[in-house]
Amino acid sequence: MKPRIFLSPPHKSGNELLYIQQALEVNWIAPAGPGTAAFENMLSAYTGCKHVVALSSGTAAIHLALLALHVADGDIVLCQSLTFAACANPIVYQKAIPVFIDSEEKTWNICPDALEESIKACLARGQKPKAIIAVHLYGMPMQLTEILKICERYDIPLIEDAAEALGSFYKNQHAGSFGRMGVLSFNGNKIITTSAGGALLSNDEKLIEYSRFLSTQAKNVAPHYEHTEIGYNYRMSNICASIGLAQMEVIVKRVERRRFNFDYYKKMLADIPAITFQNEPLHCRSNRWLTAILIDPKLSEGITREVIRLNLEKENIESRPVWKPMHLQPVFHGEKFFGAGVSERLFENGLCLPSGSDLSLEDINRVTEVIKKSFR
Ligand SMILES: *Cc1c(COP(=O)(O)O)cnc(C)c1O
Repeated sequence: MKPRIFLSPPHKSGNELLYIQQALEVNWIAPAGPGTAAFENMLSAYTGCKHVVALSSGTAAIHLALLALHVADGDIVLCQSLTFAACANPIVYQKAIPVFIDSEEKTWNICPDALEESIKACLARGQKPKAIIAVHLYGMPMQLTEILKICERYDIPLIEDAAEALGSFYKNQHAGSFGRMGVLSFNGNKIITTSAGGALLSNDEKLIEYSRFLSTQAKNVAPHYEHTEIGYNYRMSNICASIGLAQMEVIVKRVERRRFNFDYYKKMLADIPAITFQNEPLHCRSNRWLTAILIDPKLSEGITREVIRLNLEKENIESRPVWKPMHLQPVFHGEKFFGAGVSERLFENGLCLPSGSDLSLEDINRVTEVIKKSFR
C-alpha cells in the first residue's frame, strides 16, 4: 500500500524545536510568557489588526467574541450555515438562539440577500439580532463590501470567522480585520498550527483587553484573587506560542504553496466537464487552505462525490465532503434557516481534496489519477 495522503497535515518549518527549547531553558513553561506576546505581535503585524489575544482554540475565540458583545440568554445570533460546528456551538454555550443563513454560489459564504431577509424577519418579530457570525470558507473571503453594508444599515456587529483564512485578503486587506472582531485557528489541520490554538483580533482595544481579562479567569487588580465576573481559562500557553513563532516565519510560503496546489489541481482536472472549483471573485485573494471540487450531477453520469471519495480512500487518500450545513445537523434540528438550498447543494456535490503545503507533485498526481479514472 502506498503511503497515506492526508487532507491537511501539520507542516513544520524547522524552528519549532529550537523555540520550544529556548522557552524551556528559561522555564517559561507556564501559560503566560514572552512567546505568547511575541506571537500576538507577529499576528498583528501580518493581519494589520491592531489588537490580538492568543487563545487555546478558535472555538474559544468565537466564545469570547460573543461574551465581549454581551450575547446572552435568548439573544439571536445569525450564523453562516455552511461551516464547522465550532462556529455555531458557542452561540449555544451562551444560551442564545442561532439562526442559520444560506451560502451564495459566488464565494460559498454567507449570502447577503438571505442575511438581510433574516434580519428583516427578526425585526418584524421585534427582536434585533445581537451579532452575525460569517465565515471565510476554505480561505475564500466572503462578500465583505455587501455584508458590512448590511451590518451598518441595521447596526449589528460582524464576527468574522477567519479560522481557515490566515493569509487571505479582500481588497488587499487581511480577512478577519474588517468586522468588529476576527477569529483565527491554529488547530493541527489549519494553514499554520500551534498544535492547538486560536486568536481573537480587533481594531477595538477595549474588546480585546476585555477578552484577555475573561480568558485569564477574570482576575481583578488586587494582591489576592478578586473576581467580579465569571472567567475562563482560554489563554494560549507559551509553549504553543513558541511553535506559532516558528510557523509564522513561513506563512507567506505556506500560502503560496496552497495556492499552487489549487492551480495544479485545476489544470490537471481541466478536461473533466463535471468538475468545477470554488471561484475567486474580484477583490478576493484566498489562501486556498483547502481545494474543494464540485461535481455537477447533470454531467457526471452517476459519479457522485461519494464515489470519488471511496475511490480515493481505496488508494489510501483522505478526502472529505464539504461541511454539512448546520441547519441539517441533528443537534440543531428545529432552528430557523433562511436561504434557497445553496449550502445543501454544495454539501451534496462538494469534496475537499488533499491540500497540505507539503504535498509533492507526485502526491497530487496520485489524487488526480484516481479522480480521472473514476470518470473513465
Ligand atoms: C477550525 C475551525 C474553527 C475552530 O477552531 P479550533 O481551533 O479547532 O477550535 C472554527 N471555525 C471554522 C470555520 C473552522 O474551520
